[in-house]
Amino acid sequence: MSHNGYITEQEIQGGDDGPLAGRTVAVKDNLSTEGVRTTCGSDMLAEYVPPYDATVVERLKQAGATITGKTNMDEFGMGTTTETSAFGPVENPAAPGHVPGGSSGGSAAVVAAGDADLALGTDTGGSVRCPAAFCGVVGIKPTYGLVSRYGLVAYANSLEQVGPIAPTVEEAAELLEVVAGPDDRDATTRDATDHGTDYEFAAAADGDVEGLSVGVPTELVEGAQPGVREQFWAAIDDLEAAGASSREVSLPSVEHAVEAYYVIAMGEASSNLARYDGVRYGSPGGYEGDWNDSFARSREDGFGEEVKRRILLGTYALSAGYQDKYYRKAQDARAWVQQDFDTAFEAVDVLASPTMPVTPFELGESLDDPLRMYLADANTTPVNLANLPAISVPVGEADGLPVGLQLVGPAFGEKRIIRAGSALA
Ligand code: GLN
Repeated sequence: MSHNGYITEQEIQGGDDGPLAGRTVAVKDNLSTEGVRTTCGSDMLAEYVPPYDATVVERLKQAGATITGKTNMDEFGMGTTTETSAFGPVENPAAPGHVPGGSSGGSAAVVAAGDADLALGTDTGGSVRCPAAFCGVVGIKPTYGLVSRYGLVAYANSLEQVGPIAPTVEEAAELLEVVAGPDDRDATTRDATDHGTDYEFAAAADGDVEGLSVGVPTELVEGAQPGVREQFWAAIDDLEAAGASSREVSLPSVEHAVEAYYVIAMGEASSNLARYDGVRYGSPGGYEGDWNDSFARSREDGFGEEVKRRILLGTYALSAGYQDKYYRKAQDARAWVQQDFDTAFEAVDVLASPTMPVTPFELGESLDDPLRMYLADANTTPVNLANLPAISVPVGEADGLPVGLQLVGPAFGEKRIIRAGSALA
């Protein structure tokens, strides 16, 4: 709590029994909670109290969980450090003086500090995996469509999924089991059983990697800090000692993933955030003048700098004269990234890389340099572009700071990455 992990600390009681009875779960503040304010880390929604629960929140309650409160986050999920929150930055409990990663930094921090047993985050381009890696805990970004987005306040719909954060792989898998599964209220959800698998995620955390083939995409390792690379290769050695084999593979398209991701994410954000005008949603302008002045004032006062930057860039990339040059090109790059992953999974069972190429930034260090912040997402964004599942597990420290290893699986291959991840954490 001294870490500023919560925006609103308020207990929400679930049912009396169920798989999460007696467990506490913190929920990211972009997931709607009936009667409890949901700010998205923004001044714009500082007073917003949703009249309904997100599907994942409803499922937590049904499973008997006690929700501890709503966790701090980068404003609308836009960031990699949780410093763009209107409610102040979060400090990393595992690395004092450093950021917890983002945008689900509050969720990872409260789990790392032991203030909640488990937490939900959301991952549009790495926002579950990055804070899990930076705080030394486990995070899973599910296959697109495995978990309902109903009641998740949208940042970039085609990329984001709700995902669990926990101290161990098995606990993360237990939480995933509770929230996963089709939902009539989100037409993009899919039933895993139609894709040759089931929902027994926790049982898959048996650490059995005998015969597993692990592909290491050179492009995602080369650029990492030396200390991060060292911990990464040591973990690959551990997997091999446990019976897995590893080989290098190539994903040539990933060098364009960050650019493609940011064009698509900002484009979708500019459209999603149009609803905050003080009339439909957001703190009212209440100003003199015509509606145009009032909308503009509401948006000027309500949004922070990073959000404004992204609305402007997204609007530009979608504008009539430029959409072929930027948005269409980014969609082509997305298709290429998807193809590269498909080809890689013909040869190997899972792919492994450092989750983040860097160790946690010092608080304040990256704020003035958005580009540097965006580039830190090099290893996580390709996975969202390809709609695939990935897990981040802690694999030691570099210079006293936590390092995470990312395992990526084919679509609906959650059990495979959970099994492999559980051999490490
Ligand atoms: N850092 C990325 C961004 O700022 C990812 C954020 C996320 O996954 N919500 O867009």
